[in-house]
Amino acid sequence: MGSHLAVEWQVFFGVFVFIFGLCVGSFLNVCIYRIPLEKSIAFPPSCCPGCGTRLKPLDLIPVISYIFLGGKCRYCQKKISIKYPLVELLTGITWLFIFLRYGLSIETLALIFLFTVLIPILFIDLEHMIIPDGLVLTGLIGGAALFIYHIAVKPFSLYQSSLWYAPLIGVVSASGILLVVALIGLAIYKNDGAMGMGDVKLFLPIGLFLGWKLALLSLFMSVMLGGILSIILLLFKVVDRKSAIPFGPFIILGTFIAANYGIQILNWYFSL
Ligand SMILES: [Zn+2]
Repeated sequence: MGSHLAVEWQVFFGVFVFIFGLCVGSFLNVCIYRIPLEKSIAFPPSCCPGCGTRLKPLDLIPVISYIFLGGKCRYCQKKISIKYPLVELLTGITWLFIFLRYGLSIETLALIFLFTVLIPILFIDLEHMIIPDGLVLTGLIGGAALFIYHIAVKPFSLYQSSLWYAPLIGVVSASGILLVVALIGLAIYKNDGAMGMGDVKLFLPIGLFLGWKLALLSLFMSVMLGGILSIILLLFKVVDRKSAIPFGPFIILGTFIAANYGIQILNWYFSL
């Protein structure tokens, strides 16, 4: 394949991946809204939360409908949260980012699956401080498929190991550390401490997708990011010592960094 063709194909696939990501982001909005309410994500079709009118295809074009409707429902004029186009854009950008990083590969497919599960978890944890089991389970199913690929087809590069049980060490190590922290928190504070059981669960699929090296790096990154932001929020008195800050979003951000730059970070660190 000539290099010109390769570049053109990359642009073609990049545009496709971004638009497909936007559309999946639109579905993730449905998940983010309905899962905490324990409603079906498949039925009924999308309605305006204000007036209940069933939305038509023209109202459902990711980002574009929001702009053309001026951020209001076409039927009842109720304001539509900016969260909807943001989730769509974030999903499209995340998909494109991973594609540009790993090209047409099993890594891209695996990471796009993982982050499509993690994005709704991020928003649900921010708003409701819960990490829904259904989403964790969906992540585990995708992770199990990757595990089978790793054993049956080819060692998965992000595991940084050809041991067949490499992803299992990832699951046990990262979740195990968090479980110990959560149990200590539980023993000291007699209730959910800083680290909840939801965060322990969240590392089950992450460990399965990243293997132990990148999963532990992700844990380290998330603790750093969470710590830095907590200090900033405390300093500027946005929060006080008693307010709970959900840790899930930091885990997801840490996982994004580890998944895309983890191997380089580890190589750099161990070369010092
Ligand atoms: Zn409406």
